[in-house]
Amino acid sequence: MIEEKFFKTFRVPAFGLKAYKLNKDNKAENVSAIELPPEVTRTDSKIDTQRLLQQKFGESIINFVNTITDKMPDADLTLLYNNLGTLTTSKKNFNLRNIVFGGSTTGEYSAPKNEIQVQESDYFVTLPHELFHMASSYYRENDKTKYTGFVQFGKGKATLAEGINEGYTQLLTERYFGINEINVYPYEKVVAGNLEVIVGKEKMESLYMNANLNGLVQELKQYADVTAIRQFFTDVDFLSAHLDDVILLPKEKSMITSKMTNVNQFLTGSYMKKINIDFNGAEFDNKRYSGKLATFLAAMVWGIKTTQREYLSESSEKIVKNAYESLLIKKLAEKDEERTQG
Ligand SMILES: [Zn+2]
Repeated sequence: MIEEKFFKTFRVPAFGLKAYKLNKDNKAENVSAIELPPEVTRTDSKIDTQRLLQQKFGESIINFVNTITDKMPDADLTLLYNNLGTLTTSKKNFNLRNIVFGGSTTGEYSAPKNEIQVQESDYFVTLPHELFHMASSYYRENDKTKYTGFVQFGKGKATLAEGINEGYTQLLTERYFGINEINVYPYEKVVAGNLEVIVGKEKMESLYMNANLNGLVQELKQYADVTAIRQFFTDVDFLSAHLDDVILLPKEKSMITSKMTNVNQFLTGSYMKKINIDFNGAEFDNKRYSGKLATFLAAMVWGIKTTQREYLSESSEKIVKNAYESLLIKKLAEKDEERTQG
């Protein structure tokens, strides 16, 4: 029996009891298990507006479809079209579950059922987020594997990159639907946003809409090796699960700080490599270079601040600052060396 796994719009917050999972979660998942995305052909290219309007929140679904078909290239909308034909939506009251299990879930999408359920009071924020999960999902019946955005999971497979997937889903929701929700996956959103700066907006959106985690890994291989990429996804997943833990031993706090350091170093290092590639052959422009890097790092400092955890804020600002200074000094030294040689 395969455990049903739902996507939550809101992260489960603040339970010290969760901390016992820290050690268990503290291991890298096997990135080689990432499969090529299935060849999905478009089975449907009409939109049955009448049927969708009969669904709960029908007008909002139509608004979502109109916006996405207008803003995104048609080639990236295969999963959206294929799923729209059978999508069902309904309202659901999550209050009791949130009280019993602790959490703030206000919506979920089930890929096998192709069904969205959202809390009515929050639907204007939650629905587009869940609709992005729908628009980026493919469910393979024979082995019960789910491909959704940057996540793959199924029987015997580890779930990888869920943190990035949630962050990017929320980023797209805010980008295209003018929503600004500082409480929804705030850290994951900043990490996913900086990853997009490295990968490029069009490419990243396309990989997401085609449920192509493997493509994302291939893209990142220009800047980091597979082990580091695997560690990065795993670290973000770990942080996503434990950033809100409140009752932590010093050892557990340092585990979280070290994960965050890894994430910062991965992103900064990859971004530096990207800038070097971009500047190849061009006149080195220190102002432009440091300006770009400063913007990138400022986003990361903001990401850490969103956690509202003092023990992280203090150490990680230092980490980001150090990364910035040491990388810039290194770059300037390289430039000096070239000048002396030249
Ligand atoms: Zn979600």
